[in-house]
Order: sequence, then C-alpha cells, then structure tokens
Amino acid sequence: MRTGLSVSVSCLLASIFSGLLFFGAAGHGPAAAGFPPVLAQVREMDPRLRQIIDRERYVKRGYVKRDGRWVKVKPTPKARRLVDKLSDGGRPKLTVHVIDVGQGDSILIQTPNGKNILLDAGFGPCSWSDYDAGEKRVLPYLEYLGVKKLDAVIVSHPHNDHDGGIATVLRKMKVDALIDSGYKHTATPYYDVLKLAREKGLKYSQVKAGDRLKFDPAVEIEVLNPPNANAYQGTNSDTNNSSIVLRLTYGEVTVLLTGDAEKAAEEKMLRNRYNLKAHILKVGHHGSKTSSSERFLGQVGPEAAVISCGLNNRYGLPKDEILRRFERKKVKMYRTDFDSTVVVTTDGQFYTIETFGEIPSEYKGYTVGDTERKKYYVPGSKYYSRVYPGRRRYFKTEKEAKAAGFEKSNY
Ligand SMILES: [Zn+2]
Repeated sequence: MRTGLSVSVSCLLASIFSGLLFFGAAGHGPAAAGFPPVLAQVREMDPRLRQIIDRERYVKRGYVKRDGRWVKVKPTPKARRLVDKLSDGGRPKLTVHVIDVGQGDSILIQTPNGKNILLDAGFGPCSWSDYDAGEKRVLPYLEYLGVKKLDAVIVSHPHNDHDGGIATVLRKMKVDALIDSGYKHTATPYYDVLKLAREKGLKYSQVKAGDRLKFDPAVEIEVLNPPNANAYQGTNSDTNNSSIVLRLTYGEVTVLLTGDAEKAAEEKMLRNRYNLKAHILKVGHHGSKTSSSERFLGQVGPEAAVISCGLNNRYGLPKDEILRRFERKKVKMYRTDFDSTVVVTTDGQFYTIETFGEIPSEYKGYTVGDTERKKYYVPGSKYYSRVYPGRRRYFKTEKEAKAAGFEKSNY
C-alpha cells in the first residue's frame, strides 16, 4: 500500500497473536502439540463443546483426537447443529455479506472489532439504465444492519457493475477511506467517485499484491492481486484481471474474494505461489467462463462458493460449465440471483452461511408478489423463492394477488 493506511509484513504475526488473545489463549502452546491452535482455545473455553466433540467425534473444522493424533473427520448433522449452537459463545465474529445487488458485486466485510469495509457497490447509472444499486440495494442493506459509517470503501476495479453504485454510497454515508488498485480508469462514474472522495476529504490509498490491509488486528486481509496497476497488458480484459483480490483469514477460517479476476490473474497468483486456500470463495467474474480455471480452483479448494449475479442477466451468467466444475468438486454453491444476499459468519473456528432468499416460515405456501415487476409467483414455481426480499409482497391466494394488480409470472 502506498499511502494512507500502514502495512507491514510483521502485521501478519501481530494479527495471529491478537487472534489468539481474542480466544483467551490457554497458554499451553497448542501449536507445538501439533493441532489447530484455535481449536485448543475452544476446548479450553467451553466444557460443553468439549463434551460434544468427544461424544460426536466431531468439530466443524473437522479435527478429532484419535489414538493420540489429531485427524480430520466428517461432521454428523446433529453435531453440526449442536456445535453451531454452542460455538456461538459471544466470541467476536467476522461477517462477509455478499449483497444481492442484481448483476454486479457488492460485499460488506464486518470485522470482529466492528470495522465495516465495503468492497464494490454494484451497478450504477449509465447510458442505457438509471438503476443505481448503491441507492436501491447497498444503502438500504447497510441501514438494515445499522451500519452508520464505513471505515473503507474498496473498488475492486473500475467497471460499472462494481463501481457504479459507489458515488451514491460516498454521497450518503460517512466513509473514512477509499482504496483502489490505481488501475487506469476511463469511465465517468469513476472520475466522479475520485472527485467525491477528494471533496469529502477521504483517505485515499492504492494497494497491490503483497499488501495487507490493517483495519483490525484480529483479521488478516491480504491483497493477492494485481501485482501493480499496469501488470496486465493485452489480456482478455486488463480491467477485470486488475481486480483487487482479497484473502481474509480469521482464526482458522479463510475467505477469498476475487472480484472479476480472470485466468491471467489466476495464473499470476498461482505462479506467485500465494496461499490461495479458502473455505469460502466469492467466485470470479460472476461465474463467467473467463475465470475459475481448474488449476485455480484446485488450489483454492473451497467448501462453499458464492456467485454474485443478477436473475436472468443479459450475459447468461453463471455459465453451466463453471457450475458443473464446482459441482464435480462438491462445492456447496450459493447464488445471489437465487438465494439473494448471502451471509458468511465465522468466529474463526466455525462458519455458517445464511441466505436471505428463503420464504419465512410464516409465509410458507403463500403467493409471492414482486412489487417492482408487478408479477406474482405461486408456490412450486421456478422463481418462487427468488424474488428479492425487499420487493416481496405475500398473498394468501392468487386471487388476492390479482386483485392487488399483480400478474401471474410465466416462471
Ligand atoms: Zn463484474
């Protein structure tokens, strides 16, 4: 990082140590004993959890002691539920919200010490649309969460489906810092963003691979791409490849956010031998064929993945080929077009993934109206549970929906 926020290699160590402090380090040198250190803290802290681990022979990150050795095991559903419940012992959480912004990306990172970092803000007004995801989706969601201030806004790369909503966010929300890669931008929306940032006196920094974002000592945020602002020349899309890629590590849990990075960037990260391992992957470029190459996925080895894309988007994303690739690797897939906002929460040991798309139990069996499209969907139809939650109106019967001026959807 060049200006504004301080970074150093030693902050990796600092963050590991403060991570341990968070969990109330037990002080018997767990790392030396050859098993996951954070797990050791959990076992020290919560005797109920220990009982369950012993009884169910399971912890969610999957280690159990057998014949004096720590081995990886598969969870049982019962254990998963119990551990989920008990692991919620008030320990600080890292939460990553992949916000449903339609076609585009917007991700809110909430760190254990209460920092709020927004990575992209979805689509913005342009020559053929005045839709502003910043206004329609991001700000309402931040308000819903009670976020009053953003410690930083990061722009992965200057494409409208990522930076388009940023200007509105800067205009209407208190923001401390703006971060980008310094990649040359040519479109008006990004000039506006930079102008606004200057006017409002935001700290401005450019980051590159190898930097670490030092917002919260409990979470390590590594920048893995781009190597520099001009690293990609003549690739399929130099702008996409110059996406800021972030790897978040909290305790034992890792999350990889790849923006729209394509194969060239994936290759570069592989060649640089970065640790790409992640439990949860925000899939590159909305599930396009340009990204998620076999080798890259092999190195990341995610357990779960999230694709941020719009329902029936004009690009036909995500591509079946990419979905099948994840399926073959048995990666649990979430999509903002079907699941709406996807929320990953972790205490550094366990993680849960929740989605906003489900129909609340009190409305099971109801007809769902989409207030924007004025269409309604009956239970069992294809897009029934995929209507954006903020636009839903529930009707007991189809007749009621029709009477309210809604039309039956063909889907
Ligand atoms: Zn994009």
